Amino acid sequence: MGVVVQKFGGTSLADPERIREVADHVARTMKRGEQVVVVVSAMGKETDELLHLASQVSKTRPGREMDMLITAGERKSTALLCMALHDLGVPADSFTGSQAGFLTDTTHMNAKILEVRADRIRDAVAAGRVPVVGGAQGVSTDHDVTFLGRGGSDTTAVALAERLGGVCELYTDVSGVFTTDPRVVSVARRINRISFDEMLEMCAAGCPKPAMRAVEFARTHGVRLHVRSAFTWEPGTWITEEEPDMEDAIVSGVVGDDSEAKITITNVPDQPGVAAKVFRALASAGVNVDMIVQNVSEQGETDISFTLPADELSTVLPLTEQVANEIGADSVTPDPSIAKVSLVGAGMKTNPGVAATVFETLAANDINIEMISTSAIRISVVVAGDQCDRAVSVLHSAFGLDVA
Ligand code: ADP
Ligand code: ASP
Ligand code: MG
Repeated sequence: MGVVVQKFGGTSLADPERIREVADHVARTMKRGEQVVVVVSAMGKETDELLHLASQVSKTRPGREMDMLITAGERKSTALLCMALHDLGVPADSFTGSQAGFLTDTTHMNAKILEVRADRIRDAVAAGRVPVVGGAQGVSTDHDVTFLGRGGSDTTAVALAERLGGVCELYTDVSGVFTTDPRVVSVARRINRISFDEMLEMCAAGCPKPAMRAVEFARTHGVRLHVRSAFTWEPGTWITEEEPDMEDAIVSGVVGDDSEAKITITNVPDQPGVAAKVFRALASAGVNVDMIVQNVSEQGETDISFTLPADELSTVLPLTEQVANEIGADSVTPDPSIAKVSLVGAGMKTNPGVAATVFETLAANDINIEMISTSAIRISVVVAGDQCDRAVSVLHSAFGLDVA
């Protein structure tokens, strides 16, 4: 008899009817003789609403209080789902992250799991009960409530599956991982099976599902992950270790991400140590720089462009201006409306011409490329923000990913 950890996202639990449907599914799984552990997100958009509420009340928003506030969303879901399970005759107990044994560090809003002491969860399972655990939360080494960060419930589920030696099912509002966001490109196809490496590249490129930290944890600890629908309940996408004889698709997926912005520093003196100065200053301020491009120098001067999370632009801009001034650069130009479009596929390693097809396809559709970066299994380009969806769609077609 295996343990299965079933995690349900916000949309899957958005209203009373959905909570009852999820309870039905858990009850059906129990009837098949499986032992179920459930992890829940906050209902619907509650996490966003709590964040908004905090921003209306406070300018300082202390981390300790933010974590106490946000984790209330998941806690509500645990109790409601347990009530629905009781009505179906399924014995179920709600657990906060702390009660479930999640010990974390003290980094509020983005705590890291240090240890999972899952004894209470194991005991509940052994007693034939269904533990329903609040996702994305724990208790710190200072005994305070902590939040694991956005998307943290996926990580909670994977960590429990690892502790209990079970499979991890991530139920969401689409039926798996698709070749691109099915809400943007209606002819996107579900990927039935994808390797950890490709999934991680897709996550890093901006694919929101599953959360990247959860995929990293699953790969490190060999947890089998199944992303699937909480609406149709059909089988979804398995994320597993790559098998040596597996036929690699050249391109597995296309990811559009419009959450970044670009900064260009012009007429930077082309001397050793200049780039180091710029990016050391940004790193010291904790800025997460993504792509960096430096132009060929002309008359001893060059331009440097880099991308960063758009919500950090307003704080990073003055800092960049200050460094630009110190190194004797001319000007700093921000561009808040860019998009990064990435193609991911293990088959790129052995198939030449992928980059050429990307550039030809974008050119044929009059989409200008502002920056390019690659890894062994990914090509990313930066385009104007308003071209994002169209670029994703034409590349998706060009690489034969559209549903037949
Ligand atoms: P949950 O709240 O269930 O954890 P999220 O809302 O974080 O799930 O992520 C699910 C959403 O991710 C889907 O509704 C879908 O629009 C979006 N998405 C973007 N790219 C993809 C993709 N390649 N495959 C599947 N879903 C994707
Ligand atoms: N509810 C939180 C969020 O929306 C945590 C999670 O569900 O993963 O990010
Ligand atoms: Mg979510």
